Amino acid sequence: MSERADHCTSSGVPLAQEGSTTFPCPGCFKPIGRSPRVRNQGVLYKCPECGFVGP
Ligand SMILES: [Zn+2]
Repeated sequence: MSERADHCTSSGVPLAQEGSTTFPCPGCFKPIGRSPRVRNQGVLYKCPECGFVGP
């Protein structure tokens, strides 16, 4: 499982910045991207594939 998201799933910004993270969706294992900004703000993500919503 080495696939990584290259854009934030919540805000759509590219994940080049430090502090960004990517992890597999708990529902369908598609890569989810998180930018530092949405992490700091506690924005929920929604998987575009299966609709899973998480913190
Ligand atoms: Zn999913």
